[in-house]
Amino acid sequence: MLGIENAATILYIEDNADNRLLVRRVLHAEGYNVLEADSADQALEIVLSQAPDLILMDINLPEVDGYTLTSRFKSIPSLSRIPIIALTANVMKGDRERTLEAGCDGYIQKPIDVDNLPHQIDRYLAVQRW
Ligand code: MN
Repeated sequence: MLGIENAATILYIEDNADNRLLVRRVLHAEGYNVLEADSADQALEIVLSQAPDLILMDINLPEVDGYTLTSRFKSIPSLSRIPIIALTANVMKGDRERTLEAGCDGYIQKPIDVDNLPHQIDRYLAVQRW
């Protein structure tokens, strides 16, 4: 398909299957390649083998949470430049700061705004190319 080889690859790390389905549909409709992981172990394997252009990181993951996983990825030199956008329903005061402290490059609030999500991702990808 025309242009598909230039599409960015997004890895979505999320344990909730309904959220994965929603985001996959939205991003596929925009022409992105979408990879998915539902656990920290699976995410690390995919990140190392497929080098996504951007990571969408759920914060509330079982076992290893999104803050910890982000810090791990950012501590690996070959991965540290991949932008990581936190996707979280944690909207208490301090949650945004905590995602940034963990090394996230941005923050998108749940519930996911499907109309706005592609624009938000495009913006983070544009920043990365500078
Ligand atoms: Mn979750």
